[in-house]
Amino acid sequence: MNTVLVTGGAGYIGSHACKALKAAGYVPVTYDNLETGWQDAVRFGPFERGDLLDRVRLDEVFAAHKPIAVMHFAALSQVGEAMSQPGRYWRNNVEGSLTLIEAAVAAGCLNFVFSSTCATYGEHDNVVLDENTPQMPLNAYGASKRAIEDILRDFEAAHGLRHVIFRYFNVAGADPEAEIGEHHRPETHLIPIMLEAIDGKRDALTVFGTDYDTPDGTCIRDYVHVSDLVDAHLLGLQWLRDNKGSKVFNLGTGSGFSVREVIDHSRSVTNREVPYVTGPRRAGDATKLVSGSVLAEQELGWKPSRSDLRTMIADAWRWHEAGHYDK
Ligand code: UDP
Repeated sequence: MNTVLVTGGAGYIGSHACKALKAAGYVPVTYDNLETGWQDAVRFGPFERGDLLDRVRLDEVFAAHKPIAVMHFAALSQVGEAMSQPGRYWRNNVEGSLTLIEAAVAAGCLNFVFSSTCATYGEHDNVVLDENTPQMPLNAYGASKRAIEDILRDFEAAHGLRHVIFRYFNVAGADPEAEIGEHHRPETHLIPIMLEAIDGKRDALTVFGTDYDTPDGTCIRDYVHVSDLVDAHLLGLQWLRDNKGSKVFNLGTGSGFSVREVIDHSRSVTNREVPYVTGPRRAGDATKLVSGSVLAEQELGWKPSRSDLRTMIADAWRWHEAGHYDK
């Protein structure tokens, strides 16, 4: 039985990974403390409730399921919160990941797929970001992810822990079948907030900053569909099984869209007005984060098929209208 331990499997990206793993014949075991995840999203394999910082519980779960690999999604991931509560980010993300990595090594599970972020790059004037761009994170979220990348390198050298690191750009959209989707509490991400504003579930979207050095003054991001993103993880898992060593891949499309462009697309996809107001910049935000890499396409054969902005918004809207998880 090819079992994969999926930390954060009750969360947005982790639950989509579980669905894709199951479809590919793996058994995804979700490990999640349900602090930000949803039990209702765990539909594709066994559920083990636990915290990353709980080594005893992790050892139990590794012993019970004997996974061939770990996919590590569980993390705190909000830029605003990382600026105001950096300690939580260092403890949960870095100490938690270190605990998980040590447990994996102790259990002899030496294949590791890690969800890192373009936030590790920080601010780079108008360059597209490839895997060799220096990492200069602007916030504790990006810094915590960069630190985990360093831990993985050290553990490969010392213990043979082979890993694929994916640096995500902005993940968007939802399962095309609308079985699972994005649901955070509180919600902080642009597209779901925009859909809530369109739907009257909140008064308005606040555009964070209109004085950036971009054509329309708002931040530019590279959006990638969650289904395409998890496809890359399956390819990464296969890469670990077929190759030697470890590798870092950006996961983005190479196309950047400003906040105003996302608003325009949302209006056109939903055929509704987007209520929004403009506000000051959000601390910790980079002006532009766009992936310049085609490495995942070349080396993994990754072909994003739903990552055009209209499809991502349409899938997110379908999920939004289909309803959310029970509280
Ligand atoms: N953003 C915004 N209003 C919001 C949430 C986000 O203007 O209520 C902007 C944010 O400043 C960034 C972009 O939308 O430029 C994407 O932000 P999000 O939080 O979705 O993802 P992040 O880039 O932080 O990973």
